Amino acid sequence: MRKLLVIFSLVLVFYPVNVSAYKLSGYYWSSWNLRHLGWWVSDDAYYRDYIRFIFRRAAESWENLISKGSPNFYEESFRPHEYASILIYTYNYSDSDTLAYVKFTTWGSKLVIVRIYINIAPLEKGYYIDDYHFQAVLAHEIGHVLGLAHESRYGPTVLMYGSDGYYVKGRIYMPQEDDRNGLIALYG
Ligand SMILES: [Zn+2]
Repeated sequence: MRKLLVIFSLVLVFYPVNVSAYKLSGYYWSSWNLRHLGWWVSDDAYYRDYIRFIFRRAAESWENLISKGSPNFYEESFRPHEYASILIYTYNYSDSDTLAYVKFTTWGSKLVIVRIYINIAPLEKGYYIDDYHFQAVLAHEIGHVLGLAHESRYGPTVLMYGSDGYYVKGRIYMPQEDDRNGLIALYG
Protein backbone atom coordinates (compact mmCIF):
# COMPACT_ATOMS: atom_id res chain seq x y z
CA MET A 1 0.00 0.00 0.00
CA ARG A 2 2.79 2.37 0.87
CA LYS A 3 4.48 1.64 -2.44
CA LEU A 4 1.31 2.45 -4.33
CA LEU A 5 0.98 5.81 -2.59
CA VAL A 6 4.53 6.78 -3.44
CA ILE A 7 4.05 5.97 -7.11
CA PHE A 8 0.81 7.91 -7.16
CA SER A 9 2.43 11.01 -5.71
CA LEU A 10 5.29 10.81 -8.20
CA VAL A 11 2.77 10.78 -11.01
CA LEU A 12 1.11 13.85 -9.55
CA VAL A 13 4.40 15.69 -9.31
CA PHE A 14 5.76 14.82 -12.72
CA TYR A 15 2.70 14.48 -14.88
CA PRO A 16 2.29 18.17 -15.85
CA VAL A 17 5.98 18.54 -16.66
CA ASN A 18 5.92 15.68 -19.14
CA VAL A 19 2.81 16.79 -20.97
CA SER A 20 3.40 18.77 -24.13
CA ALA A 21 1.21 21.82 -24.11
CA TYR A 22 2.04 23.44 -27.42
CA LYS A 23 -0.78 24.04 -29.87
CA LEU A 24 -0.58 23.98 -33.65
CA SER A 25 -2.45 26.31 -35.99
CA GLY A 26 -3.03 23.58 -38.58
CA TYR A 27 -0.84 25.36 -41.13
CA TYR A 28 2.77 24.55 -41.87
CA TRP A 29 5.51 24.97 -44.49
CA SER A 30 6.55 22.24 -46.86
CA SER A 31 9.96 20.86 -45.92
CA TRP A 32 11.51 22.51 -49.00
CA ASN A 33 10.07 25.95 -48.20
CA LEU A 34 11.00 25.61 -44.54
CA ARG A 35 14.67 25.58 -45.52
CA HIS A 36 14.35 28.71 -47.68
CA LEU A 37 12.19 31.15 -45.77
CA GLY A 38 12.91 34.56 -47.23
CA TRP A 39 11.88 37.56 -45.15
CA TRP A 40 11.59 41.16 -46.22
CA VAL A 41 10.71 44.31 -44.33
CA SER A 42 8.55 46.59 -46.47
CA ASP A 43 10.35 49.59 -47.96
CA ASP A 44 7.89 51.98 -46.32
CA ALA A 45 8.00 50.35 -42.88
CA TYR A 46 8.65 52.67 -39.95
CA TYR A 47 11.90 51.97 -38.07
CA ARG A 48 12.83 49.67 -40.95
CA ASP A 49 16.49 49.17 -40.02
CA TYR A 50 15.72 48.64 -36.35
CA ILE A 51 13.08 46.05 -37.21
CA ARG A 52 15.51 44.30 -39.59
CA PHE A 53 18.14 44.15 -36.87
CA ILE A 54 15.82 42.74 -34.22
CA PHE A 55 13.94 40.42 -36.59
CA ARG A 56 17.23 38.80 -37.63
CA ARG A 57 17.99 37.98 -34.00
CA ALA A 58 14.45 36.70 -33.41
CA ALA A 59 14.62 34.46 -36.50
CA GLU A 60 17.99 33.07 -35.42
CA SER A 61 16.46 31.99 -32.12
CA TRP A 62 14.26 29.53 -34.06
CA GLU A 63 17.12 28.17 -36.18
CA ASN A 64 19.16 25.13 -35.15
CA LEU A 65 16.75 24.33 -32.32
CA ILE A 66 16.11 20.85 -33.66
CA SER A 67 18.43 18.48 -35.51
CA LYS A 68 16.01 17.54 -38.29
CA GLY A 69 13.50 19.85 -39.99
CA SER A 70 15.06 23.08 -38.77
CA PRO A 71 13.84 26.31 -40.43
CA ASN A 72 16.27 28.58 -42.28
CA PHE A 73 15.56 32.28 -42.62
CA TYR A 74 17.33 34.71 -44.90
CA GLU A 75 16.68 38.34 -45.68
CA GLU A 76 15.54 39.35 -49.16
CA SER A 77 16.89 42.56 -50.69
CA PHE A 78 13.73 43.16 -52.71
CA ARG A 79 10.10 42.30 -52.22
CA PRO A 80 9.89 38.56 -52.95
CA HIS A 81 7.13 37.39 -55.27
CA GLU A 82 7.69 33.69 -54.99
CA TYR A 83 6.57 31.19 -52.37
CA ALA A 84 8.05 30.81 -48.89
CA SER A 85 8.02 34.48 -48.11
CA ILE A 86 7.59 36.40 -44.90
CA LEU A 87 6.52 39.98 -45.60
CA ILE A 88 6.80 42.44 -42.72
CA TYR A 89 4.77 45.64 -42.53
CA THR A 90 4.16 48.29 -39.90
CA TYR A 91 1.07 50.22 -38.90
CA ASN A 92 0.38 52.83 -36.25
CA TYR A 93 -2.66 52.26 -34.08
CA SER A 94 -2.49 53.49 -30.50
CA ASP A 95 -6.06 52.51 -29.50
CA SER A 96 -5.18 48.84 -29.34
CA ASP A 97 -3.38 46.34 -27.15
CA THR A 98 -2.17 44.48 -30.20
CA LEU A 99 1.60 44.59 -30.58
CA ALA A 100 1.70 42.59 -33.82
CA TYR A 101 -0.29 40.00 -35.72
CA VAL A 102 0.10 37.65 -38.68
CA LYS A 103 -1.95 36.80 -41.75
CA PHE A 104 -1.56 33.58 -43.71
CA THR A 105 -1.83 32.91 -47.41
CA THR A 106 -2.22 29.15 -47.75
CA TRP A 107 -2.57 26.37 -50.27
CA GLY A 108 -4.64 23.78 -48.45
CA SER A 109 -2.86 23.46 -45.14
CA LYS A 110 0.49 24.51 -46.60
CA LEU A 111 1.75 28.01 -45.90
CA VAL A 112 2.70 30.05 -48.95
CA ILE A 113 3.14 33.61 -47.70
CA VAL A 114 2.89 34.97 -44.17
CA ARG A 115 2.55 38.67 -43.51
CA ILE A 116 3.55 40.11 -40.14
CA TYR A 117 2.02 43.44 -39.15
CA ILE A 118 3.87 45.31 -36.42
CA ASN A 119 2.07 48.07 -34.51
CA ILE A 120 4.63 50.83 -34.05
CA ALA A 121 2.51 52.84 -31.59
CA PRO A 122 3.89 50.85 -28.60
CA LEU A 123 7.43 51.42 -29.93
CA GLU A 124 6.84 55.16 -30.19
CA LYS A 125 5.27 55.36 -26.75
CA GLY A 126 8.21 53.60 -25.13
CA TYR A 127 6.14 50.58 -24.16
CA TYR A 128 8.96 48.08 -24.66
CA ILE A 129 11.19 47.52 -21.66
CA ASP A 130 14.24 46.98 -23.88
CA ASP A 131 15.33 45.50 -27.23
CA TYR A 132 14.85 41.97 -25.92
CA HIS A 133 11.20 42.74 -25.22
CA PHE A 134 10.66 43.67 -28.87
CA GLN A 135 12.74 40.68 -29.96
CA ALA A 136 10.50 38.47 -27.82
CA VAL A 137 7.39 39.76 -29.58
CA LEU A 138 8.93 39.18 -33.01
CA ALA A 139 10.10 35.70 -31.97
CA HIS A 140 6.52 34.99 -30.83
CA GLU A 141 5.18 36.10 -34.23
CA ILE A 142 7.75 33.87 -35.95
CA GLY A 143 6.31 31.02 -33.87
CA HIS A 144 2.98 31.77 -35.57
CA VAL A 145 4.77 31.97 -38.93
CA LEU A 146 6.07 28.44 -38.35
CA GLY A 147 2.62 27.08 -37.48
CA LEU A 148 2.34 27.37 -33.73
CA ALA A 149 -0.77 28.71 -31.99
CA HIS A 150 -1.18 30.23 -28.52
CA GLU A 151 -0.51 28.06 -25.50
CA SER A 152 -1.76 29.14 -22.10
CA ARG A 153 -1.77 26.00 -19.97
CA TYR A 154 1.29 26.92 -17.93
CA GLY A 155 0.92 30.67 -17.98
CA PRO A 156 3.57 32.99 -19.42
CA THR A 157 6.39 30.41 -19.23
CA VAL A 158 6.49 29.73 -22.96
CA LEU A 159 7.10 31.99 -25.93
CA MET A 160 3.76 31.07 -27.50
CA TYR A 161 1.75 32.36 -24.55
CA GLY A 162 -0.97 34.70 -25.81
CA SER A 163 0.40 37.94 -24.38
CA ASP A 164 3.85 39.42 -23.88
CA GLY A 165 3.72 38.32 -20.23
CA TYR A 166 6.40 35.80 -21.23
CA TYR A 167 8.79 38.74 -21.36
CA VAL A 168 7.22 41.18 -18.89
CA LYS A 169 6.99 38.49 -16.19
CA GLY A 170 9.54 35.89 -17.23
CA ARG A 171 12.09 37.69 -19.44
CA ILE A 172 11.56 34.96 -22.03
CA TYR A 173 12.66 36.07 -25.48
CA MET A 174 13.61 32.75 -27.08
CA PRO A 175 11.67 29.52 -27.74
CA GLN A 176 11.33 27.35 -24.64
CA GLU A 177 11.21 23.55 -24.36
CA ASP A 178 7.47 23.41 -25.07
CA ASP A 179 7.81 25.74 -28.08
CA ARG A 180 10.62 23.51 -29.34
CA ASN A 181 8.43 20.43 -28.89
CA GLY A 182 5.83 22.14 -31.05
CA LEU A 183 8.46 22.66 -33.74
CA ILE A 184 9.43 18.98 -33.53
CA ALA A 185 5.77 17.98 -33.84
CA LEU A 186 5.51 20.09 -36.99
CA TYR A 187 8.79 19.35 -38.74
CA GLY A 188 11.08 17.11 -36.69
ZN1 LIG B 1 0.33 35.49 -30.80
